Amino acid sequence: MSANNEKTAAGAAQTTNFLKNIIEADLAADKFVGRGWAGIAGEASLHAASQPDPAKIRTRFPPEPNGYLHVGHAKSICLNFGLARDFGGVCHMRFDDTNPEKEDQEYVDSILDAIQWLGFSWDANGTSHLFHASNYFDFMYHAAELLIERNLAYVDQQTADEMRANRGTLTEAGKNSPWRDRSAEENLRLFREMRDGKHTEGSMVLRAKVDMASPNINLRDPAIYRIKFDEHHNTGNKWCIYPMYTFAHPIEDALERITHSICTLEFEDQRPFYDWLLAQLRDAGMFADPLPRQIEFARLNLTYVITSKRKLMQLVTEKHVDGWDDPRMPTIVGMRRRGYTPEAIQLFCERIGVSKGDTWIDYSVLEGALRDDLDNKAARAMAVLDPLKLKLTNWDALFGAGHIEPCSAPVHPHHEEMGRRQFNLTPELWIEREDFMEVPPKGYHRLYPGNMSRLKYGYVIKCTGCEKDASGKIETVLAEIVPDTKSGTPGADSVKVKGVITWVSASEGVAAEIRLYDRLFTEAHPDAGGRNFLDALNPNSKRVIQTWVEPSLGSAAPGTSFQFERHGYFVADRKDHGKDGKIIFNRTTTLKDSWGK
Ligand code: ATP
Ligand code: MG
Repeated sequence: MSANNEKTAAGAAQTTNFLKNIIEADLAADKFVGRGWAGIAGEASLHAASQPDPAKIRTRFPPEPNGYLHVGHAKSICLNFGLARDFGGVCHMRFDDTNPEKEDQEYVDSILDAIQWLGFSWDANGTSHLFHASNYFDFMYHAAELLIERNLAYVDQQTADEMRANRGTLTEAGKNSPWRDRSAEENLRLFREMRDGKHTEGSMVLRAKVDMASPNINLRDPAIYRIKFDEHHNTGNKWCIYPMYTFAHPIEDALERITHSICTLEFEDQRPFYDWLLAQLRDAGMFADPLPRQIEFARLNLTYVITSKRKLMQLVTEKHVDGWDDPRMPTIVGMRRRGYTPEAIQLFCERIGVSKGDTWIDYSVLEGALRDDLDNKAARAMAVLDPLKLKLTNWDALFGAGHIEPCSAPVHPHHEEMGRRQFNLTPELWIEREDFMEVPPKGYHRLYPGNMSRLKYGYVIKCTGCEKDASGKIETVLAEIVPDTKSGTPGADSVKVKGVITWVSASEGVAAEIRLYDRLFTEAHPDAGGRNFLDALNPNSKRVIQTWVEPSLGSAAPGTSFQFERHGYFVADRKDHGKDGKIIFNRTTTLKDSWGK
């Protein structure tokens, strides 16, 4: 993928949301007017006997509770909950937990927490819309029997190999199973035996009877129920047969009266079966028009980011990162800890829009949305990342020994209402090592012997030299205050200087640990072409430094974001900051995109 194919912030802003057009057309055609809603999931008869649906549309977000949500899920959340909000609808939060693998409460809790943190809710019209697909096993079983009775499903006893061989290829039709023409009575008897535990795993499956010659392989009699003697977290040992996803999902949607079932493009080929199944179940009286409609959109692909759950899991279990909420992880918990705000993520999702074609979004679009959000909100503060001591040698002569000079600065340069912050100038300061050079190159405007610069919010100072240790390393920079030049006092700018130096008082600044995070991968497409994504891990994605920050930061609440002037955005770590009196900040992002420059 070339850089040209990757969306820039400007290009992305023009993307339209085709889903809105579809919904607008459906609403203009009064497609959902007059239908009932029982307040709980159920069949057509239940909904028909209930109040008119107060929701104009119904969407759903259906994660499997088998991992932490990531930035790709955030796109799906913003889309589904956002469309419901914009069109007077409701978005259902549905755990797609039909697989009998162990559900982890840790995942369930973190998924619900992530959605609420992003600013969305499944409470609407006075009720909760939190659903579990595993509550629908009885309905699904009923649907399977309806298909069998109508000769639309059969129990197949071919081996897995035989089934695969007889499925055909893209260019060749499949072959009918020898068991395809069993009578409805025999299928019903066998299916009930499957349910009752009379057969072994893999010995038989229930298949929909559609068309083995269909050009769409998904319509060649897909398996819809399989035997699995696994305990389920919700239903225990009640079932030893479980529905396949392709069968379960349309039924879940229909039971919940979803109007628009929005999913990613890889399900496009399954839409014909989705429609076939619901049409059969409507004809059998289980569901009623208008049936849910599946609409696909392109999943989010972000450069420099991995969104495969399996690979994210590998990063965690092999300890390439410090857990699911490591600030380098694209998980919602990781992004949150990194300093992302819900508003930044929503803004990002709006900017990238939705499309039908697979594209890659450049990581800089995500960071751009983050900067745009934080720039307007984050309080400013000074911190030194690479400290070097500066001594103001005429302090005592000018002010008298023991004097402390109060300074103040706006909390935010464009928001006077956020007030001012106070800190003191003292005779010894920390400045950035890069702000002094003994022998400066041309065009260098900061401190070197004989040159003047301004201490931000303080005085103009004139550099007089430096002191070195035995090895020749510069230990202290020496400078003199230029009298009557204090920022904010009359005549302060009578002395013109080009360099501005940020600083922290050596005696009043507070010691802090700063975790400098960077992109986790050095390659835009870490897993392209089947290569090992671990080879692209950025060895410098986390650097930890011990340094000094403005005194007021000592009392920052965990999770609070700041702009450290000239350095970027930083957030007080929500896990470790404040523990044992430690001050810990994570770098959220730099001020400008300087990656690879
Ligand atoms: P799995 O491979 O485990 O099924 P998944 O990423 O599909 O992983 P789900 O929990 O099934 O995870 O996802 C919930 C919803 O999030 C689905 O509707 C899915 O389409 C959507 N989703 C997942 N990844 C992305 C992505 N990268 N971009 C947009 N939507 C996504
Ligand atoms: Mg999935």
